[in-house]
Order: sequence, then structure tokens, then C-alpha cells
Amino acid sequence: MSDALLKVRNIESFYGPIMAIRGVSLDVHQGQIVSILGANGAGKTTLMKTISGVMDPEKGQIIFADQEIQGQEPHKIVQAGIVHVPEGREVFPLLTVDENLSLGAYTDIDRARVERHRELVFNYFPILKERRNQEAGTLSGGQQQMLAIGRGLMGNPRIMLLDEPSLGLSPLLVQEIFGILRRLNEEEGVTMLLVEQNASAALELAHHGYVMEVGRIVMDGSAEDLMKSEDIQNFYLGVQ
Ligand code: ATP
Repeated sequence: MSDALLKVRNIESFYGPIMAIRGVSLDVHQGQIVSILGANGAGKTTLMKTISGVMDPEKGQIIFADQEIQGQEPHKIVQAGIVHVPEGREVFPLLTVDENLSLGAYTDIDRARVERHRELVFNYFPILKERRNQEAGTLSGGQQQMLAIGRGLMGNPRIMLLDEPSLGLSPLLVQEIFGILRRLNEEEGVTMLLVEQNASAALELAHHGYVMEVGRIVMDGSAEDLMKSEDIQNFYLGVQ
């Protein structure tokens, strides 16, 4: 396989004296969906923040499209094409759906392109078009998650980092949103790295998976192989 689009190499990240990421390495190839599974507190969010530049790693490299990006300012990393859809959605509740989407493209001065991206978002999430003039705070949890993903797409990402997109959603909504993520990958070629506690949804969607425990990667493989693994079934898929 050709060289990976995103290469994470031996990253260590700390909160003060607490080592939250303990030497993590992973690859995401262009066009892939890669899922990182792990329990609460495994370090998944910290890893995402380290890739998107919200946190600086103490050690290691993050190489994106052959450029080292670790420790760069978050806006530089966005410009390079890495868009982070954070945990808990974080839409602006008093701004309308349209205004929230526009913020996802605030650095883009090509208005025609911005409108093309808005149409793309509306095509995948028609409910956002219906509610485009509504304040985001009045949307349901699932619609807010759609808006957070839509805002990410407005930045025309080369890779989207998705932190727990299933959090707090009903199984039916998880199915719906993950179905749309799959279509975005297959039809638009959007590369994705997502972290999830919902292991079955994450492995169904992904091509490749990594398992994180206490700041380390403890297992990785094709999503298909991971789904068959007894350890994964016992500890993450709840199969007895
Ligand atoms: P979750 O699903 O709860 O987000 P996670 O796998 O994303 O879990 P992290 O949030 O990355 O895990 O946390 C990794 C470790 O770092 C945990 O031990 C956590 O207690 C610790 N941690 C997270 N945020 C902070 C912080 N702001 N200050 C100190 N320690 C933190």
C-alpha cells in the first residue's frame, strides 16, 4: 500500500505530570476509515487533541501529507486539511444552522466554493437545510451531531477527526449517522479517523481499527479481523 496520509509516531502527551498518551503510533491511508476503540479514559480524546494541535505532544512525530505538524498552531493544522469534530458536538447554540456551517469555512474566501460545500452538506443532511434558519441550540442531539459533522465538511477536509460521534444518541440515530459517514467516505472519498466507545458501530464502519488502553495501542488489525477476535468480542462487543 502507498505511504499513509497521516502517520503518528511514538507520541507522548501529558496533563501536567500525568502521562495520558504513552507512545502511540498509527497510520491512516487516503480514503480509509480508521477507528480507535477504547474505554472511558483510555486517552482517545487526548490523542485527537494532540493530532489537531489543541495539545502539544512532549515527544514523537505527527506527519501529515509528508509534513511534520506536531506542535503547530491548530489553525495551521486546519489549513493543512485536518478538521476536528470534537466530542460533545460544540455547536454554537445561539447561531443559526447556516451561521454554524459558515464558521466551518471561515478561512475560505472563494464564496462559490463555500456554497458548493453547503449544498453538499445539505445533500447528505437534508434536515439541516430544512432547519437552516433555526438556532442550533433548538436542534435535537442527533441533529446537532449532524451539524457538527456538516461544519467539519465545510472546511473541505483531507481528513476528518471524529470524536465519539455516537455519544448520547439512540441506536437508530447511530445507524443513520454512521450510514451517512460511510456514504461520505464511499461517494466523496472523505478520509476519517474516529474514536469510539461504541465498538460495534465503529468496527462496522471502519476499514482498520486500533484498540487503546491506558494511553497505549494494545491491538490493531482490519476491522473484519478485530470483529472476529475473542478479546474484542469479550471486552468491547459485549458478546459472551
Ligand atoms: P473519554 O471517552 O472519557 O473521553 P478518552 O479515552 O477520550 O475518554 P481522555 O479524555 O483522553 O480519555 O483521558 C485520558 C486520561 O487523561 C484519563 O486518565 C483522564 O483522566 C486524563 N485527563 C483527561 N483530561 C485531563 C485534564 N484536563 N487534566 C488532567 N487529566 C486529564
